[in-house]
Amino acid sequence: MAVKTGAQLIARTLRDLGVTVIFGIVGIPVVEIAEEAINLGIRFVAFRNEQACSYAASVYGYMTGRPGVCLVVGGPGVLHALAGIGNATANNFPLLVLAGSAETTAVTKGAFQELDAITLLAPHTKFAARASSLDFIPNAVKNAYRTCWYGRPGPTFVDLPADIIQGKLARGFEVPQPENLLVSAPPKASGDPALILKATQLLKAASAPLIIIGKGAAYARAELGIRQLVEQTQIPFLPTPMGKGVVPDSHPLNASSARSAALKNADVVLVLGARLNWILHFGEPPKWSPGAKIIQVDICAEEIGRNAGASELGILGDISLVVDQITASLSNWKYSASAKFPSLLAESANKNEDKAEKAALRQTAPGSPLTYQRAYHIIKTTLNFLTPVDDGDIVYVSEGANTMDISRSIFPLYHPRQRLDAGTYATMGVGMGYIVAAHEAFNATPETSTSRPKKIVAFEGDSAFGFSAMEIETLARYRIPALIFVVNNSGIYHGDSTSEDAWRTLQDQTVANDTKKSEPTASDAQGTTKGLRSTSLLYETRYEMLATMCGGKGYFVRNEEELERATREGFASDTVTIVNVIVEPGIGKEIGFAWQNQPKEGKAKL
Ligand code: ADP
Ligand code: MG
Repeated sequence: MAVKTGAQLIARTLRDLGVTVIFGIVGIPVVEIAEEAINLGIRFVAFRNEQACSYAASVYGYMTGRPGVCLVVGGPGVLHALAGIGNATANNFPLLVLAGSAETTAVTKGAFQELDAITLLAPHTKFAARASSLDFIPNAVKNAYRTCWYGRPGPTFVDLPADIIQGKLARGFEVPQPENLLVSAPPKASGDPALILKATQLLKAASAPLIIIGKGAAYARAELGIRQLVEQTQIPFLPTPMGKGVVPDSHPLNASSARSAALKNADVVLVLGARLNWILHFGEPPKWSPGAKIIQVDICAEEIGRNAGASELGILGDISLVVDQITASLSNWKYSASAKFPSLLAESANKNEDKAEKAALRQTAPGSPLTYQRAYHIIKTTLNFLTPVDDGDIVYVSEGANTMDISRSIFPLYHPRQRLDAGTYATMGVGMGYIVAAHEAFNATPETSTSRPKKIVAFEGDSAFGFSAMEIETLARYRIPALIFVVNNSGIYHGDSTSEDAWRTLQDQTVANDTKKSEPTASDAQGTTKGLRSTSLLYETRYEMLATMCGGKGYFVRNEEELERATREGFASDTVTIVNVIVEPGIGKEIGFAWQNQPKEGKAKL
C-alpha cells in the first residue's frame, strides 16, 4: 500500500518497529492512525477511558519485554493517559504514548483539545517530542520507541499535530526502508568483576544470607539463572509481590511465609531487581537488621546506594548476566543447612502457615459472612481441581487493599510475570486494563504464541473495581473470557455500621435481579454519627450485572456453595464473568497495612 499521508506513515513506522498491538481510544484526528494501523495488520484495542488503556500498554511492556504502545487524543486524552505515564514511571515499565494535538497553525488560539503536552509531560517521561514535520515522523517515533525500552524502562511521548497526521507526503518523499527502523533488544551489561568477587565473599561469609527477587528480575527474564543460583547455593529467597514466580513459590527455600523473620535477621542480602522503596521498607530498621549488608543488582546506577543500600557493594548490570557471574564465582559453595537462620525461618514459616491454614479451613457458620481467607480457599481449591496449579495456565490480576494483600499469600505462583497487581504506585483501577494486556500478551495470537493459552483470573476489591468498571464492555467486545471476582466488603478497607443490616438484607434476596429490598440501609444511616464513612460503598451494588449487561455471565455469591459453583462455571465460561462475592465487612478493624512502620496507636479504627 502506498504511503500518502502522515497517518499512514505513522502506522507504517509502528509496524516496521515491530508493534503488533496498540491500546487506545480514538477521536479526530488520531482515528486515522488507528485505522491505518488496523489496515496494516496491527491489532487496535479500543478502550472506554484513556486511564485503562495507558495502564494496559504499560504492563504489556512489562509482560512481553517490548514497549507497549498507547494512542490517545490530545488534551483530555493526554490528561487521562497521564495516569498510565505515572504508573509506568513508578514501575519502570516501557511505554510509548502517542497523542494527537491541535494543528500547529491554531496553537494558542483556543484550538480543539489544545494542550501544550510537551511542557506537561517532559518532566514525567524519558523524553517528550513533537513530530513537527512529516520528515521527522519515522525518527521521532523510532527514538521514542527505543528510548522507553533501553536503559531503565519508562514512558516516552510523541505529540502528533493534526496537520501532520492529516498532511500529505510530498511527491518523491522517501519512506524509510523497514530495515532502517529495526530496533534490536536493549544491549546488556555484565557486572564489574571486582564487585562480583566482593559479593561472593560476603555471601560466603554470611551467617544469614538472603536473596530478594524483584519485578526487575522478572522483567529481565532471569528465571533460569536465578533458580540455578538458589539451588546451587541453597540460600533462602524472598520474592516481592510481582517478583513471585521467578522461582516457583513451592520451592523449599522460599521464605515468603517467614517474610518478617527473613528481613529482620538476614545479614547479607542480595537484591535482584527490586528498589529499596516502601515495598521493602527502604532496607531500614526496624524491619531490617541494622547491620545488614545490602548488595543491590540493578540496571540503573542511580538506584545503587539508595536508602540502606551500600553504594560500595552495588553491582550495575543486567540481572540475567550478573546472576550467572555470581553463580560462577561462587562455584560449588553451598550455604550450610545446619546454620541457625534456616531453622529460624522454618519455625516462623510453620507458625504463619498454621495460622493461615486455620483461617482457610474455618467453615462459614450459618448467619455469618464469608471471610476473605475462606472465600479464597474455596476459589483456590476449586481452581486447583480444574487446572493443576503448577501448569501455570492462570494469570492472576489483583488490586484493592485486603483483596490484594490477602490473596497474594494464598495463591501460589509457579511461573514468572503471571501475577499483576497495583504495583509500586499502589494504583487502583489498573485491573481491567491489565486483564486486556495479559490477554494480548498470552492469548491474542495463538498461532505464534510459545505458551499455552491462559485463563485470566482477577481479584478486584469493590472499590478498586469501580475505578475502571466500564472496561468490562471492552473485555466483552474483544471476547476476553476473564473470570473476575469482585470481592465485595462494602467499602474501601472495610464497610461501615450499616453493612451488617445490609448484609442480612442481601441474604434474603433471590439470585435473580431482586434488588428491591436494597435501598434502606445506606439512606437510613445518613446523618447518624455512625453512618456512611469516607470509606463506605453500597453493599447492595450488583456488580455482576455489569457482565450480564454486555453478554457475559454474572454470579451473585453469599455462601460457600454459591462460590464454588460460580468459580467452576466462571472458569469454564467463554465470555467475561463477574462473580460478586459478598464477604465480611470487617467493621472495627484497623486501617493500616503491613508495609508501613506505623505504630499501633497511630492507626485509625472505624
Ligand atoms: P519490586 O516492585 O519488585 O520491588 P521495583 O520495581 O522496585 O521492584 O524494582 C525493579 C528494579 O529492577 C528497578 O530498579 C529497575 O531499574 C531494575 N531492573 C529492571 N530491569 C532490569 C534488568 N534487566 N537488570 C537489572 N535490573 C533491572
Ligand atoms: Mg472493599
